Formats: sequence, structure tokens, C-alpha cells
Amino acid sequence: MCGIVGYIGSKQAYPILMKGLYRLEYRGYDSAGIALLDGDLKLYKTKGKVTDLEGFVSGKSIEGTIGIGHTRWATHGEPNNVNAHPHFSQSQNLAIIHNGIIENYASIKEELIKRGYKFSSDTDTEVLIHLIEDIKNNENVSLDEAVRIALNQVVGAYAIVIISKDEPNLLIAARKGSPLVVGIGDDDYYLASDAAPIAEYTQDVVYLNDEEIVSVRRGEEIKIRTVKNKNKTPYIQKLELNLTELEKGGFDHFMLKEINEQPSSILDSMRGRLNAKKGIVKLGGIIDYEQKMANAKRITIIACGTSWHAALVGEYLFEDLARTHVEVEYASEFRYRNPIINEDDIVIAISQSGETADTLAAIELAKSKGATIIGICNVVGSSIPRATHAGTYTHAGPEIGVASTKAFTAQVTILTLMALRIAKMKGTIETSRYFQLLNALESIPNKVKETLDVDDQIRTLARTFTYARNFLYLGRGYNFPVALEGALKLKEISYIHAEGYPAAEMKHGPIALIDSEMPVVVIATNKGTYEKVISNIQEVKARKGKIIAIVTKGDKDVKKLADYIIEVPETEEMLVPLLATIPLQLLSYHIAVMRDCNVDQPRNLAKSVTVE
Ligand code: GLU
Repeated sequence: MCGIVGYIGSKQAYPILMKGLYRLEYRGYDSAGIALLDGDLKLYKTKGKVTDLEGFVSGKSIEGTIGIGHTRWATHGEPNNVNAHPHFSQSQNLAIIHNGIIENYASIKEELIKRGYKFSSDTDTEVLIHLIEDIKNNENVSLDEAVRIALNQVVGAYAIVIISKDEPNLLIAARKGSPLVVGIGDDDYYLASDAAPIAEYTQDVVYLNDEEIVSVRRGEEIKIRTVKNKNKTPYIQKLELNLTELEKGGFDHFMLKEINEQPSSILDSMRGRLNAKKGIVKLGGIIDYEQKMANAKRITIIACGTSWHAALVGEYLFEDLARTHVEVEYASEFRYRNPIINEDDIVIAISQSGETADTLAAIELAKSKGATIIGICNVVGSSIPRATHAGTYTHAGPEIGVASTKAFTAQVTILTLMALRIAKMKGTIETSRYFQLLNALESIPNKVKETLDVDDQIRTLARTFTYARNFLYLGRGYNFPVALEGALKLKEISYIHAEGYPAAEMKHGPIALIDSEMPVVVIATNKGTYEKVISNIQEVKARKGKIIAIVTKGDKDVKKLADYIIEVPETEEMLVPLLATIPLQLLSYHIAVMRDCNVDQPRNLAKSVTVE
């Protein structure tokens, strides 16, 4: 959600900022802007995409070795040229870019208006820069001190960078609730919302913590202090990011690339953690807490969106294998309820970006009640891994497409490993079954590869249903979360209305929607409930619905009934989500391409949801 870049050094800032903004496009945004300082403080901003900004800037002065850039995801004020960031202070000596929400902006604004400040935008952000300037002038303090005082007065979430006409060698940045990384080059510094814009220039980075303010001065070491005025020693980390992971690598879209990466991303999630021959599952990140997990009477999994669907698969896995009672919660609901959580509880928090605002808040709530928090995240160094007691990275590699694909299957892989490990410790699984499942899991990457062969078949299918108005997805047991995920993927990128349901629930409502126009995707690989799913298919057929069935290779009975058949390789029932999800990802992808939708950056969506 929104992207921030900043540069100060010996090189020209403009190309670095623009490239950085392109690298951050995947996060989702509606307008873009930059500020460059070269004697004058120049602001260029526009509604639309980074290419629109480039067009707008073309022919104008782009000199400067210091600058900031922003992609905005509007929260306060519609996406237009005026509300786009950066925002000037009253004197136009300062400019700010901001990610997040200043919740008490209205009362501050009212106060500033009384004192004669004029506002040109509807944003909460402009309030902050006026406030900073007001403090700087009235209290006669340095810029970084004014920023610190102002941040003590604001309620909300922010990642900000400030540039000043009077301080051509200084950028000031701060964060609370929204991510910010400082890259340390040979004689320059980079600021960004994540490592993507930084990776090609330097591997040395400092991840800012909440309520930290950093002063980045040309030719000097960076200085960090907190909003409460405590000095902090910067902790410099090495980036683990491969540049090729940030490119499309010959694919038309990041999403297609990421779907196709799943044989290797699932393998990477298991690498060094699974040895099927020796019967070892080792998750280094949670080793000190696994006994506590094994002792827990209950595990609560909190997540949002696609991660919530992975959590549902996790529920079935933990209950089946480890016989642990599991609750799955939407983080946004959990945080505002009065949930019953105590010291014996284990809470697993799942988030691809590791920045999801609702999940972070839910973690803090569970922590305050004494629970042990285990994270499952993809982005190394993000906020959730730092807020949890322990955790496991999914190692799926950067996911750029806004609609999550490989992160989902990596999350499910980690949950499978966790459930197997805890089951082994608790003795709730027989040794022979344990080995059987480890072997089956180890063979999944190859089976995912095999599943990807359905691509051509799905493209043809997508043509048939390009202009469908509704879709229904049905599944039972482990395939119920798969149905939800399939429906979400279609909604997200093709804007077709889709619903996922447990197959047997259909008759309690959604069956009313079925007619000859209605495609119904049924994931029918189940062994335990195969006959029941066949009955559900019959119910759809009787109402002339079109059945697209995902079946196990060699299936006979569903084949006779379905209008379209997609086969996935045979595997253990509990591992089917890792295979059955793939054709559904491809189906939404191809339909979205045929409908001419922006697959990688669907409208209104953001990759890393840093607002609640
Ligand atoms: N709340 C700010 C605005 O609406 C910042 C939004 C963002 O994170 O991009 O302008």
C-alpha cells in the first residue's frame, strides 16, 4: 500500500527515484509524485501511474542529487493531482511524502486553520507538514526536532520522508506502523518502503522500528532517535534479495511468473526443513517454542485475505494431525472483539508482507493477554516477524503481483510442516503415517510442475467464460478453503463476482443463483466425501449450471457429469490444496487477461495493506 522512495548522495536523484517508484508499483497506488532539490524545491505530481508522472515531468528540470518520490493509495481525499504527494508546507520550504493515516488530522487542521494556515489538498498528510513547519518556526527548533515534537502529537500510522529547501544535505524519515528501510551505499543513502528499490545499489540496510526517526545527512552516518527522544544505534543488516526476482523474467505478468514459480517456491519453503528419508521436520525459527505449541490446548490463527484461507487449511491440518483445537480468526475482527486469550494460548499470525496493519494490531492484543505469538511471513525484516516471539519465513521470494499466489502455497507448506512437527512431538501420528506424509510432501514440487501443464487447457476454458457475470466455487474439507481462494482470485483480478462455499452449504442459499449461465467450479478430489460431492454436482446439473470440475488424475465418475474437467496429480488428501489451487490461479489469470484487466495491479487493491 503506497510506496516511498528517497535518495541523497552524489548521483542524480531523478532516475533512481523513478526506477524505485516503478519497483514499488506492485504495492498498489492511484497517483504518483516526486520532489527534487537543486537550489529550488521542485514538486511534480499527478494522478495515475508512474508512466503518467514520467510523461508529466518530461521536458522539465530534473536536476538534483537529493529527492523523494511517492505512489499514493488514497485514504483521505480522492485520487487527483492535488491530493497526490509530495505536499508542500505553507512556506513551500518543506515537502513531505507519507504512507498511512493521521487519525487526529481533523482537530490539528482546525487548530492550524485558526492560526491562518491554508490547505490546498484534502489529505491528512498536508496537516502534518504544516504542523511540523509551525513547530519549527514557533519553537525555533531544528527540523528533526520539529518532526519529533509533531510526531508526539499525531495519532495514527505513518512512514514519512521530509525534504527541506534550507537543508540540501538532509532527509528526515520516520515510521510507525508503515514500513521504511534505509539503504546504505558507499557515499549515498536510499530510503524506501521495502528493499525492492534499494537492492540494486546496496546490500546494507537498516529497517526502522516503530516510532524511530532517522536523520540521513550527506557524508555523515545516519542518526536514529525515537519519538520519545532516545538515541538508537542503527542495526545494519544484509539484504537477502536477488534482483532477478524483481523482474518478469520473460513472462507477460508477475502473477503468471509467480504461479509458475511454485514448484521452486514450495521447495524453497521446505529446503533445510524437511528430510523425508530420515523423518526430520525442523523449523529452526520456532524450535524454542515448539514444546509450548505441543502443550497448547488451543491454537488461534489470525490473518487476512488469502492468508486467512491458508489459515483455514492450517486449521484442518492441526486438527487432523496434531489433534489440537484450532480457531481461525480475521485479524480485523479479532482485534476489536474482546477475545478470550490467555498465557497458555498459541497465536499463529500469517501475512505475506509482514506489514498487514490489522494482523499487527491483533498480535499486539494477543501479546498483551500473555499469548505466545508465532509468525508466518514472507518478507524478511518486516514488522510482524519483529513483533512475534518466534516464527518461520515462507521463503517464497518477492511476490510482486498484488493477487497472492506463490505466497499462499508457501504458507500452506509451512503450516503442513508445523502440524507434522507438532503431531510427531505429541505422538498423535503413527510413525508409518508420518513417513508416508513426509514423502508425499517432498514429492509436491514435482506434482505442482505437472499440474502447471494444464495451462493451455485452462486458457481455452477461460475463453468460454471470459464474460461470465458470476462464478460459484465449491469444495469440501481441505478443498473448502481452496474454493474460497479460487473465488477470491477471480474477484481480485477479473472483477467478476465470485463466491466460494462449502459444497453442502450451496443448498442453503447460493443454489438460488444457479441457472444455465452460471459456471460452478467444483474441487472434487476428495476421497472421504467423494460421493457427497458427486451429489452436489448433480444438484447443480439439475438446475443447468455449468460444471468445471477439478479432479484427481484417473477420475471416472465426476468426469461423466462435468462439462469441463481439469486433472491434478494424485496426492494425500491433506496436500491437495497445494495442487488444486494452481488451476484456479491460472483460470483467474487467463480470464483477467482476456478481459483486458490490469492483472498485476488490480483496481483499488494494495499488496501490503498497511491501513486498517
Ligand atoms: N493518508 C494519506 C493520503 O490519503 C496517505 C495515503 C497513502 O498511504 O498513500 O494522502
